[in-house]
Amino acid sequence: MSEDQSKDAIVIGAGIVGICAALALREKGFDVTVLDRVGPAEATSHGNAGVVSPWSCVPQSMPGLWKSVPKWLLDPEGPLNVRWGYLPTMVPWLGKFLSAGALERLPAIADAMLAVNRPNLDLYHQYLAGTGEENLVTDCNYLHVSRTAQGADPNSLAWRLRRERDVPFEAISGDEAREMEPELSPDIKAAVVIRQQGRTVNPGRLGKVLAAKAEAMGVTFPLTEVKAIAPREGGGYRVDTNDGPREAGTVVLAAGVWSARLLEPLGVKVSLEAERGYHLIFKDPGVSLTHSIMDADNKFVTSLMEMGVRSAGTAEFAGIDAAPNYKRAKVFAKHTKSLLPNLNIDETVEWMGRRPSPPDSVPYIGEVPGYPRLFHGFGHGHLGLTGAPMTGRMIAALASGEPLNVDMTPYRIDRF
Ligand SMILES: Cc1cc2nc3c(=O)[nH]c(=O)nc-3n(C[C@H](O)[C@H](O)[C@H](O)COP(=O)(O)OP(=O)(O)OC[C@H]3O[C@@H](n4cnc5c(N)ncnc54)[C@H](O)[C@@H]3O)c2cc1C
Repeated sequence: MSEDQSKDAIVIGAGIVGICAALALREKGFDVTVLDRVGPAEATSHGNAGVVSPWSCVPQSMPGLWKSVPKWLLDPEGPLNVRWGYLPTMVPWLGKFLSAGALERLPAIADAMLAVNRPNLDLYHQYLAGTGEENLVTDCNYLHVSRTAQGADPNSLAWRLRRERDVPFEAISGDEAREMEPELSPDIKAAVVIRQQGRTVNPGRLGKVLAAKAEAMGVTFPLTEVKAIAPREGGGYRVDTNDGPREAGTVVLAAGVWSARLLEPLGVKVSLEAERGYHLIFKDPGVSLTHSIMDADNKFVTSLMEMGVRSAGTAEFAGIDAAPNYKRAKVFAKHTKSLLPNLNIDETVEWMGRRPSPPDSVPYIGEVPGYPRLFHGFGHGHLGLTGAPMTGRMIAALASGEPLNVDMTPYRIDRF
């Protein structure tokens, strides 16, 4: 295959990861086509909590987490839900998830998470510069608040992991938290604040603005469903779609939670679960917020967006295709009102999205073993908005054969 042919790239998936991959590949001189059946940032990347968290290094699976699981599962308003019929299907993933939470595995996982998350607030600012939409990502703090001192304990293992990595955080009192966010309830007794954070005021629009930027640079975004990826003789790939086959020397699979299905026919098995989450928008909130707020007791995030106050969270395991259970979203009305007592909860909009979650919270980024120039960037779980720009940069560097000063081993697709 000539060098020119390998510079033709198809990106499968126009979520925030695919969009950022397209931007980074275009910057390296690739001719890029992004295929998506619903269009830019219409799936999971549409409805997240908007936290751009460059300091994120704490995985979902932590030592001792299992002790909280029964309590959460028995509480219909709790942060975790498993549809019982689905449990047998997810047992293999669950086993890997629990063993990823072993104490001795945490430092390597935390380092790998930080390496992919750390540059991204700066990268978003760079990508948005000159678009006229610079305010779509703003600098802020990230407040983790609790009704008990224990709920925001800066000496817990999670905060120790952050401290060891120089994350700029400090423990503050409930009153100090209310000085930063006056709408917080007097019930909030303690908080830990992470500085130098960012948030987007509209994740979906952020994706669309960056897609428009890519389009202006020559990237195309045809609407189509990808059915299969097949290696071509002599190199490169045929990508079968609803509208017939397309060909390219380089393919990037960034189809979020749907990525594993497209790899299966190639004999590549990936451990990936749909960790379904919900949001509830309070359209006429009557309160203003400046920062991202994590309710550490009820495990959800709330912040002010262009469309109102959005509360988002929940981990529901029911597979990719099960119908949403919007009761999971409606729970946020009660919880958010307890956090922000002046909130008007009269008019709401609910949404469900599917986090593409690997067992260890480290995204799959690299080249598919045995399939030269088939790159993968998916599995960002709770942190895909945050991790997307650096993921795109990593893929573009690999595709261009440029050196990367990041060890890519922890992101391998065949690590489980
Ligand atoms: C409730 C909730 C809150 C969250 N909060 C945050 C947060 O605050 N900060 C953060 O960093 N992350 C957050 N996340 C996680 C983040 O939203 C995801 O990790 C991220 O959106 C994943 O992006 P993606 O591009 O990989 O996938 P997606 O956005 O799902 O995009 C995948 C795309 O691939 C397309 N596709 C799939 N299969 C095919 C096919 N066969 N043919 C054509 N197109 C296809 C889909 O249509 C879709 O557009 C949250 C997630 C949820 C659910």
